[in-house]
Amino acid sequence: MKHQTLVDKNLEFVWHPFTQMGVYRQHDPIIIKKGKGSYLYDTKGRRYLDGYASLWVNVHGHGEKRLNKAVEKQLSSIAHSTLLGSSNIPSILLAEKLVDITPTSLRKVFYSDTGSAAVEIAIKMAYQYWKNIDPVKYKKKNKFITFKNGYHGDTIGAVSVGGIDTFHHIFHDLIFENIQVGCPSFYHSQYESDQELRESLLDQIEHLLQTRGDEIVGVVMEPLIQGATGLFVHPQGFLKGVEQLCRQYNVLLIVDEVATGFGRTGEWFACHHEDVEPDIMCLGKAITGGYMPLAATLTSQRIYDAFLSDQHGLKTFFHGHTYTGNQVVCALALENIQLMKERKLIPHIQKTSKVLDQHLRQLEGHPHVGHIRGRGLMYGVELVSDCEKHAPLPIRTVEHIIAECKNRGLMIRNLENVITFVPVLSMSKREIKKMTSIFKQVLTDVLGS
Ligand code: PLP
Repeated sequence: MKHQTLVDKNLEFVWHPFTQMGVYRQHDPIIIKKGKGSYLYDTKGRRYLDGYASLWVNVHGHGEKRLNKAVEKQLSSIAHSTLLGSSNIPSILLAEKLVDITPTSLRKVFYSDTGSAAVEIAIKMAYQYWKNIDPVKYKKKNKFITFKNGYHGDTIGAVSVGGIDTFHHIFHDLIFENIQVGCPSFYHSQYESDQELRESLLDQIEHLLQTRGDEIVGVVMEPLIQGATGLFVHPQGFLKGVEQLCRQYNVLLIVDEVATGFGRTGEWFACHHEDVEPDIMCLGKAITGGYMPLAATLTSQRIYDAFLSDQHGLKTFFHGHTYTGNQVVCALALENIQLMKERKLIPHIQKTSKVLDQHLRQLEGHPHVGHIRGRGLMYGVELVSDCEKHAPLPIRTVEHIIAECKNRGLMIRNLENVITFVPVLSMSKREIKKMTSIFKQVLTDVLGS
């Protein structure tokens, strides 16, 4: 089909996510036709380096034969049967594998299909956990400690535990109340040092646990990096500190590794950096190598046991989706993990992360580069109009930079005034260098050196 026909049909029928369609329709859209390795190809025959891993999901590159084969093999047996009342082979084997590669506290796997659903499930499980063990003693427990600028997805529960003012404003009447603490981002804080910020936030959390512990179900957090609101890197030891408080005051630690999981921060999971053993972990995005939707909520034995009963309707977790534990996506995820191990992807990421860091840091001192931060292959460059005041670069200029990068063959995205570098995890050193040099050249051409 011709590019223009697709453009017309796109505008006539598709409502794009997180998009003001009134603005979108003013521009010629990119329509992706195929992918190969670290590159995407559009219907005009243009090629783009995939610098945001098709929304932080792609692991081994596009068109990976081993992943395609895993799908074909599974399809030749069966595409789908339900996990309600029966089980299936790939979902069993994948659950075993996920328990094996995640922190040792996690023993059980509950499947779903998006990161938001994984979080929604975590919230419901955590809440019901306390009601199941003692509904009288824990009857007041109905709130979570959450973080400003946290993002956990777009379903109502996930928005409720998020910390984005716009969403809270629009959906105010629908979301449930939580207790929010500040964003653990040093660059955006008034503190003198990273440690000072860490200690102050931990003190705030401790104070809440001491004074309102009877209301608190648990802490919900993105470990190490708050991704979707601007790649805010937490102070060293903050995650560990939160874990210790959860243990001390007996509330649940729920980590949302939807973005950080599967090598993105340079270890299998962000929790591994600080040796943290959560009660619940949410996974999604890269779990299938970025090929198909699958998510999972992992829990400890203690939580699982609290839902056990001899009677069917008693203590049961009343949640499930039609495609929960689908065979094709589980087979794909198994092959993704196998490939990650065979290809030693974690050490690869640790090496390419250094290249990314080094090349981006060459921009330090640029009058419009306020802050460079990140872990693994998850980096942000915050663009400012005034370095001293941290005043953001106007969004139109940021969007112009992004558009110019696309014109020169680099697909990246911005989160407000933060340019994000979250590339395909298997990207080579050469491709990483290419990605940063296109960006640097665009920055010079648009803003001067
Ligand atoms: N949690 C985190 C930390 C995320 O970054 C995201 C998406 O960016 C989600 C949850 C929601 O995942 P999904 O878009 O698959 O619903």
